[in-house]
Amino acid sequence: ARAQIGVTGLAVMGSNIARNFARHGYTVALHNRSIAKTDALLEAHGGDGDFIRTETVEEFVAALEKPRRVLIMVKAGDPTDAVIEELANAMEPGDIIIDGGNALYTDTIRREAAMAARGLNFVGAGISGGEEGALNGPAIMPGGPKESYESLGPMLESIAAQVDGTPCCTHIGPDGSGHFVKMVHNGIEYADMQLIGEAYNLFRDALGFDAKQIADVFTQWNTGDLESYLVEITAEVLNQVDAKTGKPLVDVIVDAAEQKGTGRWTVKSALDLGIPVTGIAEAVFARALSGSRTQRAAAKGLASGVLGEKPTDVAEFTEAIRQALYASKIVAYAQGFDQIAAGSAEYDWDLHPGDLATIWRGGCIIRARFLNRIKEAYEADPTLPSLILAPYFREAIEQAIDSWRRVVVVATQLGIPVPAFASSLSYYDGLRAERLPAALTQGQRDFFGAHTYERIDAEGKYHTLWSGDRSEVSA
Ligand code: NDP
Repeated sequence: ARAQIGVTGLAVMGSNIARNFARHGYTVALHNRSIAKTDALLEAHGGDGDFIRTETVEEFVAALEKPRRVLIMVKAGDPTDAVIEELANAMEPGDIIIDGGNALYTDTIRREAAMAARGLNFVGAGISGGEEGALNGPAIMPGGPKESYESLGPMLESIAAQVDGTPCCTHIGPDGSGHFVKMVHNGIEYADMQLIGEAYNLFRDALGFDAKQIADVFTQWNTGDLESYLVEITAEVLNQVDAKTGKPLVDVIVDAAEQKGTGRWTVKSALDLGIPVTGIAEAVFARALSGSRTQRAAAKGLASGVLGEKPTDVAEFTEAIRQALYASKIVAYAQGFDQIAAGSAEYDWDLHPGDLATIWRGGCIIRARFLNRIKEAYEADPTLPSLILAPYFREAIEQAIDSWRRVVVVATQLGIPVPAFASSLSYYDGLRAERLPAALTQGQRDFFGAHTYERIDAEGKYHTLWSGDRSEVSA
């Protein structure tokens, strides 16, 4: 037994992480349900380092140093449970099972409790970065017992992305917290992608730009505040020319977005926690709308009611779109961090938002210059009531607000859908409002259900005798 780590599940993610471990000098035991993937990996990349080929779970477990560490990278859901059960039967108390798949955090909570009862350490670790990140340094969000991080942490930190000498990996908190945080990361990724999509749509339909022109704008933006992996790859995708037709590739791709579920999970969890993640929710719904192809085909030709002219000052409107994108992005992140704070309170996780901003600076899909600002904001005030209230972001929005409104107005006048831009702006307006229409809502609730209300000028709960003499009583 000489492998420091074992990886089971050698599809795209698992094989690249196994190679990443090997390249960092670890001896890696390899296992996959079907031996073909193990052999394919060894044949193509066996030279990357010291691998141990195993066929059965027993052989795999026997190849590992104690305490044994196994990283599971199989399909999320039932396959993960099946693999955990097999491993647990072959492992011993004190050993560590790490699930690096995209598990739902409530499954991780359940699995951690079941493994703890058997004396095993179970670590649900969110891993982001796709194929390339897995190989060259992902962002890793491990939850689970703190003790297991002592032996596991240094290994994970060594293979993670590094930013300014800091690894993009830290112990997140107990049980399901790592997967919860990864889920919200993915939700933010949905929002970020939707916002970029809305900017692209405006360039195309309000300014009449072609894909190449839009790519140039994104390339330019990637040198400023918006510098990020997603903005960078946006330019790459927009620059891609289709070999078959000679057209921009983006113009021949069907405009129906798919999803694997982590965005939806984020929104469901936010609903349960009572946190408005409107940016993320709009992004999930926008994908759903794009995918409703039958309905969309039937709706072609519906009245547009377009008012107003297209913007004529191209440079000015380009900058306005940039500002709208930046401000909306601040809102999406602020909402995501609110959800993390709420999850932390609900499950007693003691999460540190500044640490998350730190590890999301590299490796993961939402990596961005912007994350440095978030890290600084939480360093300056770990108890920020909202990211929007941090001086840096407050000022950024102050600068952007006129442009943000103008972009939403122009899009609305021209009939261009901007659900995430518009709802982020509405959220911001709601957050800063002196008075919300919720007073009326409370009155209505009291009217039909005697649900009571509070008064602005007195303590306690009150009820109006709506079906009686309409006098007010203390409830
Ligand atoms: P897949 O999600 O496509 O899963 C394929 C792997 O799961 C194969 O190794 C397969 O084995 C194994 N498997 C499936 N069912 C079973 C089962 N019942 N018992 C044992 N093994 C099984 O692989 P990916 O590499 O794309 O992803 C791995 C995990 O990482 C997933 O949870 C995914 O959500 C997550 N993830 C993926 C990212 C990505 O960019 N792809 C990014 C971040 C996380 P076999 O070869 O025998 O079929």
